[in-house]
Amino acid sequence: MEKTALEVKNLAVAYGTKKVVEQVSLKFPAHQITALIGASGSGKSTVLRSLNRMNDDLATVTGEINFHGIDINQPKANVYRVRQQIGMVFQQPTPFPLSIYENVIYGLRLAGEKDRQVLDARVEESLRQAALWNEVKDQLNSSALALSGGQQQRLCIARTLAVRPEIILMDEPTSALDPVSTSQIEDTLVQLKEQLTIIMVTHNMQQASRSADWTAFMHQGHLVEFNKTAEIFMNPQEQQTADYLSGKFG
Ligand code: ADP
Ligand code: MG
Repeated sequence: MEKTALEVKNLAVAYGTKKVVEQVSLKFPAHQITALIGASGSGKSTVLRSLNRMNDDLATVTGEINFHGIDINQPKANVYRVRQQIGMVFQQPTPFPLSIYENVIYGLRLAGEKDRQVLDARVEESLRQAALWNEVKDQLNSSALALSGGQQQRLCIARTLAVRPEIILMDEPTSALDPVSTSQIEDTLVQLKEQLTIIMVTHNMQQASRSADWTAFMHQGHLVEFNKTAEIFMNPQEQQTADYLSGKFG
């Protein structure tokens, strides 16, 4: 068994009195891509947001989220550090109205980094990792808003990578993109596994089967099945998984 990057134990989430996630336990393997799949409303985004405390102001999250032997769901955990180590990329590309360069180093500036050489080096490193460097290296001072949607999403990936997280969370990162941009991002993710762990919500079954090593199937706030992606798709153990994959609901 691979090393575990993040272990969730008995996670439950409620918005007010409405319980939307219950009894979710799983170990996300390190240096792998894990896809969270399931019908709309099954709790995928809620689980994902809980993993780096993005639900703090929205919901009540109980259970353990163990990261390097520390339960980061404890109130005393350092949320700023958690979000630096566990980054998030959203569904819609969200570049800031700044240059490409300033977008990439946004988090480093917040952390107080001022050394121009460090910043320059990190911009190149992050844009290369996000497979965007060659396209933008001559226009680093141009506005990020002039980039195409697919480039903007890769810029957002670079911005997340620039603070060197160990895990990145992605919520349907390609659902707003065309097929060419989607496949560029999928290729990028596969390369990024060498350096980090990826946990991705996707609506797209082909995307899960193409990119993910592991797949977790959620239904009505519960984790129904978690296994190697090929097993989930070819040999599901639970009837609900089989029904979902065959299009009976969702
Ligand atoms: P998915 O990502 O699988 O579509 P979500 O995690 O977004 O599912 O939603 C799970 C449930 O939680 C749904 O019933 C949804 O309506 C509810 N929900 C999501 N976000 C909020 C919120 N901010 N406030 C109240 N209910 C929410
Ligand atoms: Mg969602």
